[in-house]
Amino acid sequence: MTPFSFSRAADVDEAIRRGSAPNSKYLGGGTNLIDLMRETVERPGTLVDVTGLASDILERDDGSLLLGAATRNTALAANSAVRRRYPLLSRAILAGASPQIRNMATVGGNILQRTRCTYFYDAEGSRCNKRSPGQGCDALGGFNRIHAILGASPACIATHPSDLCVALVALDAQVHLNGVRGERSIALTELHRLPQDHPEMETVLEPGELITAVEIPALDFAGRSIYRKIRDRASYAFALVSVAAALELDGGVIKDVRIALGGVAPKPWRAWKAEAALRGQPARTESFVAAAEAELEAAVPLRDNGFKIDLARRTIVAVLKALTAGATTAA
Ligand code: SF4
Repeated sequence: MTPFSFSRAADVDEAIRRGSAPNSKYLGGGTNLIDLMRETVERPGTLVDVTGLASDILERDDGSLLLGAATRNTALAANSAVRRRYPLLSRAILAGASPQIRNMATVGGNILQRTRCTYFYDAEGSRCNKRSPGQGCDALGGFNRIHAILGASPACIATHPSDLCVALVALDAQVHLNGVRGERSIALTELHRLPQDHPEMETVLEPGELITAVEIPALDFAGRSIYRKIRDRASYAFALVSVAAALELDGGVIKDVRIALGGVAPKPWRAWKAEAALRGQPARTESFVAAAEAELEAAVPLRDNGFKIDLARRTIVAVLKALTAGATTAA
């Protein structure tokens, strides 16, 4: 590991002052960044610990929920308002990592975790455009079973690994930011970039900009919601495909719906096309299949991951069927 200096920020202003210095990084629970530093993929000169900043979960008068960026994943999953009003969010967290990691991991750090592409981690032996821009991508011609079918580019085919982000994207979460140019809020759907020619640029954050909170707007029908994760092992594995969904029915007709996908794209993937195809349609299998196919029409299989297209299609349909039947649990 490369030597670095460490400090703990007492407040947001101090964090930004230190975190905006060249080669500084914010440190949340460290469950991804420290691994990357051990592998010399990340070599920050300064770590600014922001785990002492806001970690409250506030229910506000307008019905929204405000999560401090330092909220630990375990606390978020166990929160009674989250479990009652947004069960897909609680289930997404519990589907990820291990209890020990969830005890450490923070909301802000989870959002900014980096891909688990094995070639990205192999700093000594593999070419990677995300790690070394312009170097090439060994995943393209390599073993790419876990890689993306949507939103990838010839420069990078990595997937975003977060479960939490998939649920947050389905819930129209807003991210509150603070930096040297002041405060702003953006939709989480706009935070992560697609790779195009610059996979090293993963978000729209400006240098030194800090995630201070995540806001989840009120959504009455989110109580009828599911997060379903398909993976190689029952625990401590990243998603091959995951689906976060909430459904509002009016009789047998779909009044409103939210769907997001994980494990299939370089960013948490909001399924806008599937949602548009479902609104106003009868809640039956034919509608669900048509919506899944609308979303996956743009999917591009790689040598080893063509199975993800059918897996995503079938998981979307299964989740919508379960929601129509009244289920609100993960599988
Ligand atoms: Fe690097 Fe992306 Fe290629 Fe993986 S897929 S090796 S992260 S450029």
